[in-house]
Amino acid sequence: MKIPEKITIGGVTYNITFSENIGGNENQTGDIDFHNAQIWISKDTDKDVQKLTFYHEVVHGIFMALGYGNDDKITIDERFVDSFSHYLIQFVEQLEG
Ligand SMILES: [Zn+2]
Repeated sequence: MKIPEKITIGGVTYNITFSENIGGNENQTGDIDFHNAQIWISKDTDKDVQKLTFYHEVVHGIFMALGYGNDDKITIDERFVDSFSHYLIQFVEQLEG
């Protein structure tokens, strides 16, 4: 799967940028800014990690599109977002064959 340059989630089109030192933290692999419709993915990580990061940030975006905010536990539950991302990847890749 090639990570797209843009992705629309719930009517909001996010730009996807490959970057280094995301959020001023060299260990952070990605981030999403809902207000500016921006997703960042670390350009220095492995391709599979980039893919997982992409799905992870998309899941955050889906929760925001569902009406959850930054103060809702589900939005910031990184373990849940991560595990949901793994299932989403598995599901989509089955469809891709
Ligand atoms: Zn996260």
